[in-house]
Amino acid sequence: MGRRPGGSTFGNSTGLTVLVENDGNAAAWGEARFGGGEGFRDVVAATIGTGIGGGVVLGGELFRCSHGAAGEVGHMGAVANGRLCICGRKSCWEQYASGNALVRDARAMATERLFDAQILLSLGDGTPEEVLGELVTHAVQSVDRVAIDVLDRLGEWLGRGLASLSAILDPQIFVIGGGASEASEFFLPSARASLADRIIGKQYRPIPEIRVAELGNKAGIVGAADLARVKFFSET
Ligand SMILES: [Zn+2]
Repeated sequence: MGRRPGGSTFGNSTGLTVLVENDGNAAAWGEARFGGGEGFRDVVAATIGTGIGGGVVLGGELFRCSHGAAGEVGHMGAVANGRLCICGRKSCWEQYASGNALVRDARAMATERLFDAQILLSLGDGTPEEVLGELVTHAVQSVDRVAIDVLDRLGEWLGRGLASLSAILDPQIFVIGGGASEASEFFLPSARASLADRIIGKQYRPIPEIRVAELGNKAGIVGAADLARVKFFSET
C-alpha cells in the first residue's frame, strides 16, 4: 500500500488524521492559545528545563518554517567560546539561562560562599556538589542569599537572549515556562531589566512583556491536541 503525500504510516494504517509535532512547538502553541500568551498574536515561548525549549507563534500561526526546526531558541548563540553545549558548540544561550545552568551556577556559588548558602545546603545533604534546581527554587523562598543571586543571574541571562529574539521576531510577549518558573518572582525583575537594557528600537516600540506560563506540564499535550484539532477541521 502506497503512502499518500503528507500522510504518515500511522495515519495510513488507522485512517485517522495524524499530526506529528515537536514538543517545544506544541507547548508554545498551547501557551499561546490557552495559557500565558492567550489573546496575543505574536508569542515566543521558552521553557527553562535542562536546556531551553522554545516555540514561536507569529500572526496567530505556529512558525515552523522550512523544516519544522524553527524555535530552537536554546541553541541561539549568546557568547563566544563559552560553556560546551550538548550540541557540540560553545556559544549556546541554554548553557547560561537553563535549569542546568542554574544548578551549575548554584553549586559554584555555594562553594565560594558557604555562609550565604546555609539555607540552600540545609535542604540537601549539606554539600554544594549535591545542590539541585528544585532546592534553589525552595531555598529562595526562605531568602537564601546564594539562591537569590543565582536566580537573579539566570534572569539577567534570560533577558539577554530575549533581547536577541526581539531583534529577530519582534513579539508582543514572551511566555516563560519550566520548573524554574516556580521562582519567577526572583528572576523576572532582572530578566525584564536585562531585556529593557538590550532591546533595540525601544524608542519606537513597546518592550515585550515577559509572562509566566500557565499550563505547566500540560502545555505540550494541550497544544498538540489543539493543533490536531485545527488540522482535522482544515482537512474536512
Ligand atoms: Zn547548543
